[in-house]
Amino acid sequence: QSKQRLAVLGSTGSIGTQTLDIVRRYGDRFEITTLSAHSNWKKLVEQAVEFTPDNVVIADKTHYTAVRDALADHPVKVYAGSDALEQVVCSEQVDTVVMALVGYSGLFPTVSALKHGKKVALANKECLVVAGEIVTRLSAEHRAPIIPVDSEHSAIFQCLTGEHSAVEKVILTASGGPFLHRPAEELERVSVEEALNHPSWCMGAKVTIDSASLMNKGFEVIEARWLFGLRPEQIDVVIHPRSVIHSMVQFGDGAVKAQIGTPDMHLPIQYALTFPQRLPLQGPRIDFCKLGCLEFFEPDPMRFPNLALAFECLRRGGNAGAVLNAANEVAVAAFLDRKIRFTDIARINEETLGRTTLRECVSLEEYRRTDREARQTALSIL
Ligand code: NDP
Ligand code: MG
Repeated sequence: QSKQRLAVLGSTGSIGTQTLDIVRRYGDRFEITTLSAHSNWKKLVEQAVEFTPDNVVIADKTHYTAVRDALADHPVKVYAGSDALEQVVCSEQVDTVVMALVGYSGLFPTVSALKHGKKVALANKECLVVAGEIVTRLSAEHRAPIIPVDSEHSAIFQCLTGEHSAVEKVILTASGGPFLHRPAEELERVSVEEALNHPSWCMGAKVTIDSASLMNKGFEVIEARWLFGLRPEQIDVVIHPRSVIHSMVQFGDGAVKAQIGTPDMHLPIQYALTFPQRLPLQGPRIDFCKLGCLEFFEPDPMRFPNLALAFECLRRGGNAGAVLNAANEVAVAAFLDRKIRFTDIARINEETLGRTTLRECVSLEEYRRTDREARQTALSIL
């Protein structure tokens, strides 16, 4: 059996390093063709020495010479800049692209991978939020499957495996984040440290802030729409603080299937790589007798307006998702820089949407323009 050759984009991040754990464990099944980082060049070099890929990409060009010199004695090509990411995924040496870049930066490399018929194990939900219509169309046209890595979507994907009957709806579970029970007036004053302290998952900074503001769940609603071809009314969100049920599917006969497990991203990453097979994965197992009762309740739209904004963008279509994503990236960066309050994130998102003329987008170039303009608008509101 030949090995599955992986290009891991964003290999130094939370999803990227967990992907490499799996490759380490199943070295007989996987080999690494490409690794990439934005600025953490030392970690990239370490990974390159361990996994001997054909090439590495350092997106931030200022670190190019550092990487090249550090790998001078190794048979690894070194590329720099984000355009290189679009090139390396096309290589004939790549079977699967693990898309673990964060934010808008994931869009164009994903498009390039799909156009070349690669299987994409997709963690980067933002590319579907920005341009889900084009991304899913390319996947179909080029018979390039997108397998979700995001835990909720992996859960839904697992529930749908072997099913051909009509889906009535999907139910996305949300932990509710660190501020689930925080009163509205206190939300204004929460610190960056508190926002980064997620109760159930250890993830990169951007997605952790998005989880605290429920923007992440909103993005996941849009992600589900495109991955599973759903209408907005077919997507529900329920707060489930224990994060034991990763998401559910309700079928036309009333049956509901759930995927249940401990919160560990290794499982959805591994499943995306080995589907339709399952391989053993070590780790804690759920002891149902010790679980006690599981709680479910509705999200609070007053304290967490981002969720409703995402549904609104979904209904409006066109470039609305691209506007929301761009505004949110600007706002989250400003919050992490301690320039704005936590509650300003949703306010900036809403105002940016309000000030933008929404339109249909037929080309990637138009999405690119939308992204640029919405960032400027968001910055001017800041
Ligand atoms: P991290 O911030 O941990 O990692 C991001 C990776 O992308 C790093 O390798 C980083 O390099 C690189 N990167 C960052 N910015 C750029 C850029 N502009 N150009 C090129 N490369 C860049 O993120 P996560 O792993 O947490 O998340 C990745 C994606 O997966 C996100 O879309 C997130 O929403 C999604 N996701 C993550 C989950 C998780 O558990 N972490 C769960 C579900 C979804 P460097 O290290 O040099 O900064
Ligand atoms: Mg998720």
